[in-house]
Amino acid sequence: MAKYFGTNGVRGLFNELTPDLALKLAMAIGVFFKRGKILLARDARLTGECLKHAVVAGLQSVGCEVVDLDFAPAPTAEFMIKKLKADGLIIITASHNPPEWNALKVVDGKGVTISWERGEEIERMMGNVAPAEWDKVIPAKTYDRSIEEHIAAIGKLINGDEIRKRKLKLVLDCGNGMSALIAPKLFEELGCEISIINGKVDGHFPGRPSEPTEVNVAVLMQEVRSKGADAGIAWDGDADRVIFVDDLGRFVIGDKVLALCVLWKLGKQKGDIAITVSTSKAAEDIAQKAGNKTLYTKIGAPYLSQEIAKGHAIIAGEEVGGVIWPEISLAKDGFLTAAKMVEMICKKPLSAWLKDIPQYFNVKTKIEAKNEEEKNKIVQRVRSEMKKRKLKTMEIDGVRADLDDSWVICRPSGTENYVRVFAEAKTEEKAKELLEEWKKIAEGK
Ligand code: MG
Repeated sequence: MAKYFGTNGVRGLFNELTPDLALKLAMAIGVFFKRGKILLARDARLTGECLKHAVVAGLQSVGCEVVDLDFAPAPTAEFMIKKLKADGLIIITASHNPPEWNALKVVDGKGVTISWERGEEIERMMGNVAPAEWDKVIPAKTYDRSIEEHIAAIGKLINGDEIRKRKLKLVLDCGNGMSALIAPKLFEELGCEISIINGKVDGHFPGRPSEPTEVNVAVLMQEVRSKGADAGIAWDGDADRVIFVDDLGRFVIGDKVLALCVLWKLGKQKGDIAITVSTSKAAEDIAQKAGNKTLYTKIGAPYLSQEIAKGHAIIAGEEVGGVIWPEISLAKDGFLTAAKMVEMICKKPLSAWLKDIPQYFNVKTKIEAKNEEEKNKIVQRVRSEMKKRKLKTMEIDGVRADLDDSWVICRPSGTENYVRVFAEAKTEEKAKELLEEWKKIAEGK
């Protein structure tokens, strides 16, 4: 197990992810990327600038060419990798976490996020890296056009004329995060009538918590209703994730955003889809109906990027509201996702689109476990019972059993002392029943 790397990089509070640690990590990351050209971006968290200085020093000290994009949403920085022919990227952002958190998210030259498995290799080099010769330490450059270039690239991938004709009414909730740098401009250029809430970038996140959950976007839902808007859109802190509010003011969870995007994409192009094992079956049902395959991956964006990098899937996503469109990058792009959804809304209201996707209900719970051994024991109990019942199982990440039109998964948390149990079924009642049943099995009751 990696000591510092988690599913999405090295994340921690400021007394955990210290400038000292950031420097050592950056030196090892620089060597991992063959002392090449490394892009650097950050969000507006208060500790970001301090960590940035440490990261720049670390990269420079091993002879890397540093190109600083400064403030940029994660999908924007990830889009720039190919454009600037970089060997790697470090984004200083803790995504949707509270403001006191920060993280180094590391992405390779192909655009694939470094998972903890690959992070282990970086960690092994830490503290054991030779600095560059004095004359190989070169000045960092800055690059300030990434935002406009990302907006232009999105514009080329959607039907802007169609959207401009409709003059849709949108409420954008940027949550004081990085989406504020792109979303207002993007949708204004698309001729939408926009109103913005939490549109000022602020590392304290004063408007709402950074994760766009239903509770956290209550004001947005209210605004959509009172303004009679066509949709509300909210992003997380680094803007890779996006959720919607429909024209009736109802929260549209990430799973549904993904299902709608899959429906839209497969209506235009044939190809496989990739989703994580905890993602709603709605996407798979849509793919199946269209005659396309669903590829399942472990939970976490790096595994989706890896799958898409193999070249089979034409769209990928996970239940929290992140969709990957390989035509722009291998990262979850909350802006292209939002723009594609807006393109869809030009055809008919979001509430009508929602009727076209299979209805499922998800329920989640977690069981406390003291250590790895106990976590494994819990998962093993579930695995044995699934085998005993001769259920169709998937062991990509934890253990999942697929029943007729429902599934249940039991999976040890990578970072916390829990084992998580999720269930999905056609009705909320059935999902709850399934969850209860398997929670008891997991607990050995
Ligand atoms: Mg995020």
